[in-house]
This record gives sequence, C-alpha cells and structure tokens, in this order.
Amino acid sequence: MLRRAHSAVVNLAARLVHLADGTAARRAELDRFDYLPREEQQRIVMGRLRRLLAHAFERVPYYAEVAQQRRLKPEHFQTFDDLPKLPLLTKQIIRRRRDHLIARGGPSKAVKGSFTGGSTGAPLSFLLDQQYRAYGAADKARCYERCEYGFGEPLVFIWGSDYDSAAHKSLPQKLFDRIGRNLLWVDTFSLSEEVLKHHAERIVAHDPVLIVGYVASLTMYARFLRTCGGRRPSPRALQATAETLTQPDRKLLEETFDCRVFDRYGGREVGLIAHECEAHEGLHLSPMCNLTEVVDVNDKPVAAGQTGRIVVTNLHNYAMPFIRYEVEDMAVPGERFCSCGRATPLLERIVGRTADVIISPSGKLIPGEFFIHNFGRLLSGRDIVKQYQVVQETRTDLTIRLVPSEGADVATLQNELTDMIHQHADREFVLTFEICESIPATSSGKYRFTISKLEQPFAISSRTSDLRPNTDE
Ligand SMILES: [Zn+2]
Repeated sequence: MLRRAHSAVVNLAARLVHLADGTAARRAELDRFDYLPREEQQRIVMGRLRRLLAHAFERVPYYAEVAQQRRLKPEHFQTFDDLPKLPLLTKQIIRRRRDHLIARGGPSKAVKGSFTGGSTGAPLSFLLDQQYRAYGAADKARCYERCEYGFGEPLVFIWGSDYDSAAHKSLPQKLFDRIGRNLLWVDTFSLSEEVLKHHAERIVAHDPVLIVGYVASLTMYARFLRTCGGRRPSPRALQATAETLTQPDRKLLEETFDCRVFDRYGGREVGLIAHECEAHEGLHLSPMCNLTEVVDVNDKPVAAGQTGRIVVTNLHNYAMPFIRYEVEDMAVPGERFCSCGRATPLLERIVGRTADVIISPSGKLIPGEFFIHNFGRLLSGRDIVKQYQVVQETRTDLTIRLVPSEGADVATLQNELTDMIHQHADREFVLTFEICESIPATSSGKYRFTISKLEQPFAISSRTSDLRPNTDE
C-alpha cells in the first residue's frame, strides 16, 4: 500500500516537472511525429536541419569553413538525398578541431560539458546545450514508456559506467534516487561474487517493474542467478543498452527474468538514437531528435538489409553541432514499416560494440566499460591516443595496446594508465604496453575494446563464444 502511494506521488511529481520544464510538450510533439507519413516526416526534419545549418554556417567556425569551401547554403538541403553534400564529422576531426566546433559566443550556463570513453577506443569531449537535453529527456521518457514502465514505479539501473555511477554515490543523490525517483542504482563496475550476491538481494527487495542495464552487466547478473541460485526479481521488462544485444543474450535474459527485453541504442554524444517498440520488429529511429543515416564506403545510404556505418545529425545541440557524425558503429536498416503503426524507420539490428569482462587477480569482475570510461576521463580533451585496447592474457597480465597521436608523450601516458588501473581496478595487475600503428576490427567489423582470453564469469555454457556470436553473420 505504502509502495503504491510512493509510486503515485513520484509519478505525479514527475508529471508536474515535465509539464513545467517543457518535457511533456516535447514528448507530445515527438509522439505526433512518429505517426505522420514519411514524406511529412522528411519535410519537418529537413526544416529543422536547415535551421541548424543556418546557425552552424554562421556561428560555428568549422562549419563556416565547410560552407565556404563547398559553397553550401541551408536552402540546398531539401530532401535526405541532399545530406551527402555535407562532409562526415569524424572523431578525429572533433579531437583536432574541437574549439572550432563550438558555436561563437562561448558556452552559456545552459551548456554542459561531457565526454565519452569512446566505444571504439578513442576518447572525446564535447558540449551539450539545454535544448538538446530537453529533447533527449522527452525521447528517453518515451522509450521507458514503451517498456510498459510508468514514472514512479520501482526502477533498477544495473550500470557499468563509473562516470554515471559517481553521480549516484553521494548521500543526497542516493536519497533523491530512492525517494524522488523510486530508483535503485547498482554499480557493476567492480564486482566480486560476494558483492554480486549482496546486489542481487537488494534488487529483489526493491521489486523493480523495469531493469535497465548494460548488456554485459545484465547478462552477468543473469548468469550469476542461474549458476549460484538465489531469488530472482520479476520485472515487467528489461531494457538493454550500451552494447550489442545478441539473440543468445536476449534469450538468456528473457528466460532468466521471464519478461520481455527491449533493446536501446544511443551514445553520450548524441543521446538516444534508436529503441525497440512493443512489436519488437527492430529499433525505431527518432529522426526528430537524431537524423540517422546508414551509409556505405562512399557515404551513400545502404539498401535495406545491408550493413552500413551509422551517421547521426543531432538536430538540437546548437552549442556544438554534431552534423553527419560518424558514431563508429554499424547497423542494418530495416525494410518494412513496423506493425505498431509508427512510420519512423527501423534499424533491423546494430552491429558494433562488444566488451569482455576482465577478472582481476583478487577476483573482482570488471566490465569492459570500466576501461572505456576511465581511459576517457584520463584522456579527455588531450589529443594523445587515437585508439586503445585492453587484452587480458592471464589472471594477472594485462596487455594495453595503444595507438598514440603524433608527438604524444607515451612514457608519461603509460605511467598515468598504470596508476589509474592499479588504483581503481586492482594493484596486482601486471601491465605490458604495446605501441601499435592501428588496432584492427574483427572480421565481422566489430571493434573489441576489451578482450579476455580467460573463461567469462558465470558462463552457463562452457564456451563464452557460444553466448556472444557475431551478430552480423
Ligand atoms: Zn514499432
């Protein structure tokens, strides 16, 4: 009874906040958009793009140069076919020309800095403005609702990001999470079996309606429950994010938690990109927020059913526009319209991120994201590393492969990385650094930023590879 009253109060409070801060209005706008005919959607999106380009060509030095060199004007962009007139924005360009990508007039109070550790092994720092965050919040609220979750109901995050988790560790934030959001935040950055047992009990006690988590964290939790027993929660749905959700992962999660699993795809730089709806026929794009293309080697759209590179234009971040931004993941665009009635395009599947769990000498289970986010934090804003990869050779031996930028002080960098790993992961790790010219992707095109040569923890199959086959084969 008390729990229900708590949920109702949180729900009411969230609705009032969303009414006041404009999230509710933006949600309604995005919902209406979803059901419009595709031609109408294209017309609206291209209008937003022209508005963004007018701003970027005038106030963002990098794009002013692009417009001048290519003799571009906003009115040259009328249909999606016009998009290739714009160059791709690569992570390398952002690292080299970050200051020229920030709109003149300087960051205002409403602008927040953020960074990514780089799912492809290259860290990045950038700015996000208030309008971007408002549309992002509205889109995210919609994606929770599609999992049949109502604001205020018990929610659990099983998260592998140190950066995000840090924000949920202070006492005031913990109180706000529990009382103000009915949220239990479980940090899976540094786990031992004992800690996992403790978390499993807390999750059952919280009785979540929805569990949101990194694919690696969710599957590790599922394997733990299957291997070690213990009480299982009974959520209405699971929402998986941050890494590729393979069919075996989905099956494992559905069977363990006896509920539906919703895949969600996005990035820190541009926010939510695609999300499954209740029909589970692919991931819906949200072109009013992120105009997403899937392109071939010539930067032209691939046909439905073909694998291509994901390129995203965020229509709302005027502080530091990401226009035709190369995410460095791949996807397969869907062919059909979804049976749910929304006309927004579908991605059949995402092909991209993969990370092994690293097992430390003292027995901690360290998700691959630990390295992404800590490397990202350490390297943020410094153009010293182009790519990296962490390989666990034995329980104690880690090989760190680095592709340094020209003129980088590699010795200092190695010391910093050693300190970070010893301090935050495990003091017993013995590190070997390997300086490389490049780090190739796997044959399926995936880039693996952590590779473990050990058996993965709580594997219900004797071979980890059975649980993580290539998704694009
Ligand atoms: Zn649908």
